[in-house]
Amino acid sequence: SYDELYIKSAIRSIADWPEAGVIFRDVTTLFKDPKAMRMVCDAFVQRYMNQPITHIASIDARGFILGSVVAYQLNLPLILIRKKGKLPGDTISQDYSLEYGSAAIEIQTDALEPGAKVLVFDDLIATGGTVLAAISLIRKLGAEVHEVAALIDLPDLMGSQKIQDSNVPVYSLLAYE
Ligand code: 5GP
Repeated sequence: SYDELYIKSAIRSIADWPEAGVIFRDVTTLFKDPKAMRMVCDAFVQRYMNQPITHIASIDARGFILGSVVAYQLNLPLILIRKKGKLPGDTISQDYSLEYGSAAIEIQTDALEPGAKVLVFDDLIATGGTVLAAISLIRKLGAEVHEVAALIDLPDLMGSQKIQDSNVPVYSLLAYE
């Protein structure tokens, strides 16, 4: 098990960023604290060791940092899901809507084979739009999403609920109301 209060104390909250009214949960202070970072990564490793996962798909950009440590520890292949225009070679793209406007993420078409069982990793789930777009990319390649793992869930925004409604389990270490 892990010390939720200690981990929370390592995450900084920044008011009115990136815009007025938003409280941004800044995990750079957690990355700077080796004890908190180790606690977080060990908690994920404990949960996912001995589960039938074939790949870890990490989401641009803070998802890369957590996902890569867990992939290393579990000795699993690491897949990158990146913002549009960053990945070379053949890719497929998924648009999703943001509060204002839209964005797109991409995966390389040879990143996953049909039958792969993928653990999706990001730092935080807000509206769930990013993770739902990632799930759609993974399914388009014929692979299955085993679970979504995130350090932080913002349950009031209903994103994790939406993901679970699409038949994908969600696991997070912390929730902020
Ligand atoms: P969603 O698509 O669920 O609305 O937003 C989640 C995405 O935006 C994640 O990729 C996450 O990195 C980023 N994000 C949104 N709000 C925050 C926040 O308060 N803190 C951090 N660290 N990331 C956020």
